[in-house]
Amino acid sequence: MTIWNLGSINADLVYRVPHLPAPGETLSATAREVWLGGKGANMSVAAARAGAHVRHVGAVGRDGAWMVERLLEYGVDTRGIATRDGASGHAVIAVDPAGENLILLHPGANREVSGETVAAALEEAAPGDSFLFQNETSAQEEGAAAAAARGLRVVHAAAPFEAEAVRAVLPHLDLLVLNAVEAAQLEAATGRDLSDLTVADIVVTLGSEGCRWIATARGEVVTIPALPVTPVDTTGAGDTFTGYLVAGLDRGMPMRQALGLATRAAALMVTRAGTADVIPDLAEVQAMRL
Ligand code: ATP
Repeated sequence: MTIWNLGSINADLVYRVPHLPAPGETLSATAREVWLGGKGANMSVAAARAGAHVRHVGAVGRDGAWMVERLLEYGVDTRGIATRDGASGHAVIAVDPAGENLILLHPGANREVSGETVAAALEEAAPGDSFLFQNETSAQEEGAAAAAARGLRVVHAAAPFEAEAVRAVLPHLDLLVLNAVEAAQLEAATGRDLSDLTVADIVVTLGSEGCRWIATARGEVVTIPALPVTPVDTTGAGDTFTGYLVAGLDRGMPMRQALGLATRAAALMVTRAGTADVIPDLAEVQAMRL
């Protein structure tokens, strides 16, 4: 089966600075690193590393060819990525010696994905495939509707959270993944308990406390504890979790087993510094000794 991931592709431009700049201040960076990032790209890499066939659907600018190549190197099918005239999505990240950061995000080409691009990509999708998306591109609603109409498993990670964006796609979803903050925001926005939503399965990630799976139709709630690891960097934990979760479901695992796999992968991920480039592969996740 194929996982179609409509998702962002960002260059993370990391600048080491002696202190975070004040308004009006010009500051020289002492070092610069460039990483592949974006929630969409991270989830594609995670699902591919978990062994799934992942077709990324999205857009980069003319400066983004290296990111497409990197995704390809990581085993992601990149035929659904369009190139636009403007800039690729990117984040300018200043980091001070204490690790405190300041982030400026420019969505760039990520918000120039057209409904036609997504519909054209999904022409090749078959019932039983999965459609995954987050909230960092355009054409999310069209994509979710088209995927649901074709009989795909529609999975949404509602991050970054925007009440209107998630409300618009709710009717199309089979599975919704949220962190604890996003879950509270959604309950506040809808005025309803998550368990009263019509989405069949909802997973709330709870950081070091694991995750909660709400099977709304059966009114069943299952909590899966996190694995005890010493965290080094929790960046990308959520994206790794979701990528592995969808990959597990895609290979036919029941939800509880797929959540177990995602929990292991995310635990290993928090022991590593970095994002897309360090997401563990399936062999590493299976070999984990805890
Ligand atoms: P991020 O934005 O940092 O990627 P998130 O807020 O989307 O993360 P979290 O709920 O923090 O998501 O974490 C996702 C999953 O990662 C958790 O459900 C858990 O399985 C795992 N995880 C996160 N933090 C830890 C930790 N300290 N120890 C073990 N597992 C963790």
